[in-house]
Amino acid sequence: METNSRKSILVIYTGGTIGMIIDQDTGVLKPFNFDNIYQHIPALKLLDNDIQNYCFDPVIDSSNMNPKFWVDIATVISENYENFDGFVILHGSDTMAYTASALSFMLENLNKPVILTGSQLPLGMIRTDGRENFITSIEIAAATIDDTPIVPEVAIYFENELMRGNRTIKYNAEHFEAFRSPNYPALAEVGVYIKYKHNYIRKPNFKRLKVHKNLETNIAVLKLYPGISENFVRSVLQVDGLKGIILETYGSGNAPTESWFLEALEQAIENGIVILNVTQCQGGSVDMSKYQTGIALKNMGVINGFDITTEAAITKMMYLFGETADPTLVIEKLTKSLRGEITI
Ligand code: ASP
Repeated sequence: METNSRKSILVIYTGGTIGMIIDQDTGVLKPFNFDNIYQHIPALKLLDNDIQNYCFDPVIDSSNMNPKFWVDIATVISENYENFDGFVILHGSDTMAYTASALSFMLENLNKPVILTGSQLPLGMIRTDGRENFITSIEIAAATIDDTPIVPEVAIYFENELMRGNRTIKYNAEHFEAFRSPNYPALAEVGVYIKYKHNYIRKPNFKRLKVHKNLETNIAVLKLYPGISENFVRSVLQVDGLKGIILETYGSGNAPTESWFLEALEQAIENGIVILNVTQCQGGSVDMSKYQTGIALKNMGVINGFDITTEAAITKMMYLFGETADPTLVIEKLTKSLRGEITI
């Protein structure tokens, strides 16, 4: 049975548009003092939850997000894990999908909700989408059935949809509906009611939270395009210390069959660089056995990224290479769903 007893929620404010108000004197957007949150959203008082805030200092535009900041967020969550029933992270929308993906890998055995949200218009503006996004995120973070959280995973809530964090992409720079989860159904749809899709939500495993804080940043994304030059490809593959490449291919995982291209990739694989094949398409999955242009990649040991997003692929590789330097172990885990990030 859905229970509504008073829950404690930690709101972690990292920055982004949502936390902005217009300065009365200058007319410029500036972050507001989060201690005054009830003044901006009086409706929060109507939710029967104990809401506490953790505010990063300084708050950032999420274009400045980086792995060190991810470690800081994960640390705040782990240090407060036992004292709160759920977490809401207010975050700029620009890199929210990366942060959600990174946290999903960093927080192993997560059994409480970590809901990221933000807005396209600041809370201090009349037409803001932030108020609804914020209030609903808190409701979701506090929702339980028989005292077990309904959404014990990292998710993004934006404009009426709750999505698995590591399945999302920011696809629109101005619509309120800014995020999509092209390859995985919504975890909840929100209208008059919050309709949870229990079958799609991860189940709690009741194990102890384990936080992974080592992230390897010697990872690169190589996006293919007609006319890509040999010089460019070779210089990317020869970056000093490079551990892995996310190769953004065409369609179902296809790439040019020109010999210089295949040789360059083959050489990189021989040098121990892991190459993960991810499609440039927003929807659908890589299948390297479909076309000759994919088979060449498969035969040389390029790894199938299935339907993973680029955001999840990058952060998964950062996480895996942060755990081990052994490419074989990394490959083994890249081809498995660790946090529901791929469909195999
Ligand atoms: N540039 C902003 C950010 O990502 C946009 C937003 O908050 O939506 O921090």
